[in-house]
Amino acid sequence: MSGSPLLGMTVGQIREKARADAARVLRETWGSPPAVPVQPVNIARALGLGVFSAELGDDAWGMLIGSSAGVDIYLDRDQPTNRFRFSCAHEIGHFVHRDADIEADQAFVDKRSDAGHGRADEIFANEFAASLLMPEAHFVSAVRAGEDNYDLAQRFDVSLQAVQLRRHHLNL
Ligand SMILES: [Zn+2]
Repeated sequence: MSGSPLLGMTVGQIREKARADAARVLRETWGSPPAVPVQPVNIARALGLGVFSAELGDDAWGMLIGSSAGVDIYLDRDQPTNRFRFSCAHEIGHFVHRDADIEADQAFVDKRSDAGHGRADEIFANEFAASLLMPEAHFVSAVRAGEDNYDLAQRFDVSLQAVQLRRHHLNL
């Protein structure tokens, strides 16, 4: 596995890279301009990932696992739909960040208990997920048109908290 390209980057630079990578993935796998709500499972499959819903236990949102056949995403089935969608987009972010360089039997697990930690690859994956599910141009124009956070959450099929964070990070 190669070293993290995020090493030495500031948080702002990591977020910029995540936004640019998400915009590229949207263009290449979903369409331009992107129709919303974006369907991250379809995008994952377009990238060649297997996507599965499973019982992962109380402490896992999702995981990325390498196998001899490729790379798979497993998502805990016991999470609300909008959280499930975010978890899927987050795992795609890890896949993109690692440049698909995941060896067989290598597993990365996202735990609920450390969901808020500030590691560079988690900042990247969260910003990537937000940018994938709430495409920037569409999000900005909906905010400028006066949609409130509840409308935005419904439009993009994300949680209210995800909308609030997206607005915060885009200074809207
Ligand atoms: Zn993660």
